[in-house]
Amino acid sequence: MEKDTKMNSIPFTPLFYCSYCGVSAISKNLLENARCLRHPSGSGKGYHISYKGSEKEIYICRYCGLQEKSILVLTANFCPNYPYKLRKGRHSPAL
Ligand SMILES: [Zn+2]
Ligand SMILES: [Zn+2]
Repeated sequence: MEKDTKMNSIPFTPLFYCSYCGVSAISKNLLENARCLRHPSGSGKGYHISYKGSEKEIYICRYCGLQEKSILVLTANFCPNYPYKLRKGRHSPAL
């Protein structure tokens, strides 16, 4: 019997990152079916949303230009230039 090695032979599996909090998952579905602790509506009040840009060395906040090495670090703090005044918002990685 030939073993199905398809699953093991993938040389590189790109990860999907949440745009709000930077957690990663092996599939977009897995990511977007889990609640996000840094969701703009409140912690756990919505789901992760996958970051549409490519993987980078440096992520830049689209509002204030802050640069960090990962989305996880970038989104850890609130952004002083967040455009929606009614609530606080975190830094958000530009694409
Ligand atoms: Zn998230
Ligand atoms: Zn910012």
